[in-house]
Amino acid sequence: MSPAYDSNNIFAKILRGEAPCARVCEDDHSLAFMDIMPRAPGHVLVIPKVPARNMLDMPAGALALFMPSVQKIAIAAKVAMGADGLSILQFNESAGGQVVFHLHFHILPRWSGVELRPPGGPIENSETLAAAAAKIAAALGT
Ligand code: AMP
Repeated sequence: MSPAYDSNNIFAKILRGEAPCARVCEDDHSLAFMDIMPRAPGHVLVIPKVPARNMLDMPAGALALFMPSVQKIAIAAKVAMGADGLSILQFNESAGGQVVFHLHFHILPRWSGVELRPPGGPIENSETLAAAAAKIAAALGT
């Protein structure tokens, strides 16, 4: 059984508007915002609005409603950043590499021959994050 969901995690605070984010878009089921320590230009996180710790405790019905948002934002990020491809990463529990315990998908634009930066890198400046968020938001629906 999964450990209990902790509603004091940073992504829950972002969802409640108690912590800031460089917001890309939002719908009934999801919120997308820029990762503050991007592993690639245009690194977006997509989170569900329901309180799930990770994939292991996310109700299947809610997952089905949420996943189209991940796909939509992935397509927009690829177009907006002019990427050759994308990596979509999702980690479960500390042993699986998870650090923030609210389900999230990392959308990482990729370019041929360019490695991802290691996790836990420097915090990106807020103007750069806001510019990338605006670019990806503008590409939604393309
Ligand atoms: P993980 O739980 O390992 O999948 O990764 C958590 C991710 O959240 C990392 O890539 C962090 O850079 C990112 N992160 C942590 N705090 C924030 C925040 N306040 N806003 C945006 N991204 C964050």
